[in-house]
Amino acid sequence: MFAAGPLQSTTLDVPTLSFVAVSLAALLGVFLTLAWVQQRDTRPLAWWGAAYLIGASSMAMWGARSPLYDVPPEVPEALTFLACGMIWSGVRLFHGRQLIPMGACAGAIVWLVLSHVPTVTPGSPERIVFGTMIVAGYTFVIAFEQWRERRKSLFSRGAAIVVPSAHAAIFLTPLGMQAFLPQVLAEGWVMVFALESIIYAVGTAFIVLLMVKDQHVHFYRHAATTDHLTGLLNRRAFMDNARDLCAAQARRHQPVTLLMFDLDHFKSINDRFGHAVGDDALRVFAQVAGSSMRATDIVARLGGEEFAAILPGDMNVARKVAERVRANFETASAVVGAHAIGGTVSIGAAVSRAPVFDIDALINRADEALYRAKHNGRNRMEAAEVAPEEELPAPQGGVVALFPSRKPAARNDAAVPV
Ligand code: GH3
Ligand code: MG
Ligand code: MG
Repeated sequence: MFAAGPLQSTTLDVPTLSFVAVSLAALLGVFLTLAWVQQRDTRPLAWWGAAYLIGASSMAMWGARSPLYDVPPEVPEALTFLACGMIWSGVRLFHGRQLIPMGACAGAIVWLVLSHVPTVTPGSPERIVFGTMIVAGYTFVIAFEQWRERRKSLFSRGAAIVVPSAHAAIFLTPLGMQAFLPQVLAEGWVMVFALESIIYAVGTAFIVLLMVKDQHVHFYRHAATTDHLTGLLNRRAFMDNARDLCAAQARRHQPVTLLMFDLDHFKSINDRFGHAVGDDALRVFAQVAGSSMRATDIVARLGGEEFAAILPGDMNVARKVAERVRANFETASAVVGAHAIGGTVSIGAAVSRAPVFDIDALINRADEALYRAKHNGRNRMEAAEVAPEEELPAPQGGVVALFPSRKPAARNDAAVPV
């Protein structure tokens, strides 16, 4: 593959390089197509697989051109640009955007037209400039499609933006070369581009597979932690997040508040307006609860028409938040769809100022308060009784101990007002 030159430098053997490129592209094409066969719902894999197979056949045609197979040179080149357009289409599809078939074919069509311009003959500098501009153009739009999705911050996205951008930049270098050092362009750079393109093609195949894997992981993780009706966290995710928040608050010696919500007379809403309107009311509550709290507060649907929230802060915070949610829900659910459902919510709150090891116990206390809210007429918030574990840990040697050994007598004396 390598032949020693007169100055002991090495040059690459073009037929060998073409053979390697064709084999790699074909292999990756088969690989991506098989991945699509396994995951039929991931259509971009089919586009990418086909793009690599077309790319491989265009390179094969280009390498095997001979008087026997009289293929005009612009045909394999146009097929290469079509492959670039198909990669771009796959990326758009992957991000849930519409396909633009004309855009995918534009490079190939422009190339076929340009090839009939007398000055753009095979091997001419103009031809190289136009060719690199088409490849760089597609590569930049691929990077752009990825960049638009960067908010989702999937692991592979960084690579999916940086790699095509670098590739496009390298491909644009000949434009400068053409202006300042045309002889260098003619000599060595074409080989550099060929090698770089092979590396890019292999890298891209791995990146797109990584993106598909990332998306699946993201999808299943989201499905496992989210309540599908409201989009809030589900019970399991609530418990996990609540544990983290309690641990963080314990480290800062700060209290946590737990709120339990239960929509009032919800069965009657279902009975009078139908289950679908009931579902809408649940969504309205989720939206109200989410927008009435800070982003760091954790809100979840525990099941049915029961919701919970856990937030940093004491009972003063709890009262403010609970009242905001109660009032906002009363307003937002007065009319749902075209139905005057007049929804309300009852709330029970419990605070712990000591480290929380048993979240279920905190939930039970908030539940008891909720029961009182129902009993006292609904559409209100009630606070749980002050529990022994709600007391502030006693300072020991100037440091607040997280696990104080408390005397029983301290319970009544040090009751924390709520
Ligand atoms: P209270 O004021 O005492 O809380 O009365 P309630 O009617 O809200 O309480 P109850 O527990 O009797 O009824 C809860 C109802 O919530 C019964 C159930 O059909 C309904 N429900 C549970 N999950 C869903 C759901 O996902 N969608 C809808 N539309 N209704 C649900
Ligand atoms: Mg209930
Ligand atoms: Mg209820």
